[in-house]
Amino acid sequence: DRLLVFLTLAGTAALAWVITVSYVRERRHHRATRDLAEQLQSANTLLSAEARHDSLTGALSRRYFLDLLRDEIGRARASGEPLCMAIADLDHFKQINDCFGHAAGDRALEHFVDTCRAELRASDAIGRLGGEEFGILLPATALEAGREVVERLRTRLKARPSTKLPASAGLSVSIGITELSAEDLPERLMSRADLALYAAKSGGRDRTEALPPDDTAPPARTAATTW
Ligand code: GH3
Ligand code: MG
Ligand code: MG
Repeated sequence: DRLLVFLTLAGTAALAWVITVSYVRERRHHRATRDLAEQLQSANTLLSAEARHDSLTGALSRRYFLDLLRDEIGRARASGEPLCMAIADLDHFKQINDCFGHAAGDRALEHFVDTCRAELRASDAIGRLGGEEFGILLPATALEAGREVVERLRTRLKARPSTKLPASAGLSVSIGITELSAEDLPERLMSRADLALYAAKSGGRDRTEALPPDDTAPPARTAATTW
């Protein structure tokens, strides 16, 4: 009888031990899986934020900006509100790189985007289309008001130069702006903004040119478009 009691107790103790060990292992495994899932999630969040933003200036990436453009056109059509699209290109930017170095050029790009942030509304968007060329979206804004906004941006850029750039590195920008028309596709809206930018460049730079909404396809710019 004693032996039976002993064996039963020993068996129960062994079983309890096995259950405890499995439970602890299971908890550990569960915690490790949860930590991994959390790490994966934050890596994903970081990756998608990086895909959305240009790493130098923090402006929206070209791809995300173009997606946003399509969304904003849809929203403007649904609400009946106007939408302005501008393209801004820094003037003689190559000279800044050549005279003051590539790092100074980078600071100039950052400064331009900082100035945009200070001057534009939170609902406006700025994206880096490439190099020193930026797209600006002004929702719920008609052409005359949009022209005033980007013109103010252009003058502020000159009035408040970057403290990180040599004073002789005069930074100016040319801007082309247009308004969405009833028939515009994103490409045509951008083409017209680009055409307005081309007019600002050929008119002497450091200026804003506006093209009214127009449902006739704009002629292609003679120089190759950068977007
Ligand atoms: P324009 O007034 O006609 O626009 O002349 P520009 O010199 O601004 O235009 P151009 O297209 O001749 O030169 C653009 C320069 O921008 C050349 C390129 O090396 C420089 N660039 C493009 N991306 C970057 C960048 O990320 N950092 C720096 N520092 N320079 C860049
Ligand atoms: Mg330029
Ligand atoms: Mg350019």
